[in-house]
Amino acid sequence: MSDWLLRPRAAVRELAPYTLPPAPAELTLRLHANENTAGCSPAVLAALRQSLCAPGLAAYPDYEPAQREIAAAFGVAPAEMLLTNGGDEAIQLLFQTYVDPGDQVILLRPSYAMYRFYAGLAAAEVCGLDYDRPGFVFPLAALLAAIRPTTRAILLANPNNPTGGCIGSAAIECILRAAPEAAVLIDEAYFDFCGTTVLPLLAAYPNLFVCRTFSKAHGLAALRLGCLFSQAGNIALLRRAQPPYSVNLGALVAARASLRDPAYRQAYVEEVRAARTLAAAGLRALGFRVHAGCANFLLFEAGRRAPALCAALAARGILLRDCGRDIPGALRLSIGTRSQMATFLSELRAL
Ligand SMILES: *Cc1c(COP(=O)(O)O)cnc(C)c1O
Repeated sequence: MSDWLLRPRAAVRELAPYTLPPAPAELTLRLHANENTAGCSPAVLAALRQSLCAPGLAAYPDYEPAQREIAAAFGVAPAEMLLTNGGDEAIQLLFQTYVDPGDQVILLRPSYAMYRFYAGLAAAEVCGLDYDRPGFVFPLAALLAAIRPTTRAILLANPNNPTGGCIGSAAIECILRAAPEAAVLIDEAYFDFCGTTVLPLLAAYPNLFVCRTFSKAHGLAALRLGCLFSQAGNIALLRRAQPPYSVNLGALVAARASLRDPAYRQAYVEEVRAARTLAAAGLRALGFRVHAGCANFLLFEAGRRAPALCAALAARGILLRDCGRDIPGALRLSIGTRSQMATFLSELRAL
C-alpha cells in the first residue's frame, strides 16, 4: 500500500473515530449498550420466520402498509412519521436537512455521542452546554441564553443518555418558543421506560421533531429501526434527504409484530423498573454514588477505581460502559432483569 492518501473533507479529517466497545469472546452479560437483555417478543421471531421468504427478500420493500400500521400505533398520521435506519439515521437526516457548514447547533454535555458525530460531519459550529453538576440538572437558563437567531438545531435526549434524567415538557415548550428558527429534536429513545413524551405537542410546534427507536425496549437493535416524527410538511422535506430504501424488510416485519405485542414489552419495562431499584440500592450499599435515572440504565461514580473495575468485570464476562472520558470516574450500568442485576451485584461485591 502506498502512503499517498486522497485528501478527505476537513470535517472528516477532524472527526474523532467512533470507538466501538470491546466484544470479549465469552461474555455472559451485556450491560454496556442499554439493550433489551431479555430479547424481543417471541411473536417477533415467529413473524420473521413466516415472512422472510425468497420472493419477499428479492423485492425492494413496500413501506406503505408498515408505515400506516406503525404510525397508528404511535397515534400519528402516516405523513407525520418517517421510518429510519435506527434512531441514528433520524439524527443524521435532521442535520442533512437543516444544517449547513458553519451553522450553529446546540448540544448538551454529556449526552448521546452521535449528536456530536453528525454535527462534526456536517461541519456545524457546536455550542456545547454542560449539565449542571453535581446532579446533572438540565441547564434550561443557559440553553435559552445560548439561542441565537441563527441557531439551526437543538438536540436533546429525554431521558438523557448517560445521565438518566428527564426534562419536563414545560422546559421543552420554553425552548420551542425561544427558537422558532431551529429544528428542536427531542430524542425519546428510552420513552418506554419513563413514559413521558412530547409527541402530543407536534401539532402546536412546527419546529418540533421527536425520534424513537426499536433498539432499546423492543429488543431489536440488530435490525436497525427508528422513527422520526414532525409536522407533515417537515417530514416531506426530511424524506427528500433520505435514501429511498434505507429501512430493510426484516425491520418492518419485526416492528409490526413487536407493536402488536405491547403486553410483552410492558412486562419487560416493569421488570426493568424493579431491577433498577434493586441495582441502585445494591450500588449504594457498596458506597457508590448513584444518579437518579428514569431509563434502563444507571450512572454511578466509582472514582479512580472506575477503569480497573470496568476491566475486572469485563474479565468476568460483564460489560459496563466506562463514561470516564466525559465524566471522570463514572460508569454506566444497563439495567436488565432482577436476576441479571443480582449476578452483577454479586460479582461486584466479590471484587
Ligand atoms: C440508543 C440511542 C439511540 C438510537 O439508537 P439506534 O440503535 O440507532 O436506534 C438514540 N438516542 C439515544 C439517546 C440512544 O441512547
